[in-house]
Amino acid sequence: MIVVVKNLKIVLCYLLIFTVLFCGNAYMAYLNNNTQASSSTPLPRFSVVIDAGHGGVDSGCVGSKGVYERDINLSIAQKLGNMLNTLGVKVTYTRTNADGLYGTFASGHKMRDMRAREAIIKKANPNLVVSIHLNSYTNTAAHGAQVFYKLNSDISRELGQELQEMFVEQVEGSRKECSPGDFYILNCSPAGILVECGFLSNPDEEAKLITDSYQEKIAYTIMCGIVEYFGLSES
Ligand SMILES: [Zn+2]
Repeated sequence: MIVVVKNLKIVLCYLLIFTVLFCGNAYMAYLNNNTQASSSTPLPRFSVVIDAGHGGVDSGCVGSKGVYERDINLSIAQKLGNMLNTLGVKVTYTRTNADGLYGTFASGHKMRDMRAREAIIKKANPNLVVSIHLNSYTNTAAHGAQVFYKLNSDISRELGQELQEMFVEQVEGSRKECSPGDFYILNCSPAGILVECGFLSNPDEEAKLITDSYQEKIAYTIMCGIVEYFGLSES
């Protein structure tokens, strides 16, 4: 009997330890789950698709020094993306290297390229699309960054106007007026702007556009326009 009682005490003791451990662990798991639920619930982040125009066999315009628009577009797009990323903006790129998006080069590659960009935009479902390009004109004196905004979109127009003003303030020689633009990349966007960041056909502007510091200045100005218009702040 004594042995039984002694064994019973041991069993009760084990039961107590098991209960404390189990309940303790379960409680901690509950706390952890709750904490994770509240901290891991993602807040909807402002999202931007950045489109570096052209790519692959489509080099865009070519400067007098043999610079391809495609490459400078990509460089400015990545600088802008890095800046927006540091502000907590979700950034999606249509391309991250020199290639186009048309797959195998064959007839109809330009349309395939544009449709691939459209598919990326539709999948990302961003708040804004920013397409980066450079301009070219027969008169080599033409110069200055200019913003084009999506037709029939108040957000795009207002952002375009604000950004153009910022260009005038921050980048010497920028054009005074923004314009509506009937571009495929904007027409498949919820709201969008296309920035012609300068003229590769102007030798002086080309010399600036190939430098990192000028590209940073352009990217910074675009970022400021977006931050200002949408009231974004560092998260
Ligand atoms: Zn272009």
